[in-house]
Amino acid sequence: MWECRCECGAITYKATDTLTNPDMSMCNECAGKYAADIARQSAGFVGGTQITKIADMKPTAANTSGARGVYFEKRSNKWRARLTFKGKIMSFGSFARFEDAVFARKEAEKIYFGEFLEENGLELKENVEE
Ligand SMILES: [Zn+2]
Repeated sequence: MWECRCECGAITYKATDTLTNPDMSMCNECAGKYAADIARQSAGFVGGTQITKIADMKPTAANTSGARGVYFEKRSNKWRARLTFKGKIMSFGSFARFEDAVFARKEAEKIYFGEFLEENGLELKENVEE
């Protein structure tokens, strides 16, 4: 493991194979912000989405990690966080550590779904299966 300094100054510990990927130097907090930024940028196409479907999201059968929106990509040997919304798949970065990917996904979810649902008078349900 290598000690890496995030742009914000935070120290994170990463596996050696992650050093070439810019995503990997991010600390947990910045990974979350990064994901939230992408979510905000993508928020333009939320109109017409099925609100009730979002509020009642559950992991899909294809999910292998146990965490919603996080999967392991064998090709890169990394965890990826993504979110499918209105037929579009958004990626929120790739991470050496599973928990970083989960965090990024949750932050994106909070921004992306939370604000949208709030505008429509709903709350994002915590997933009881996680
Ligand atoms: Zn940071």
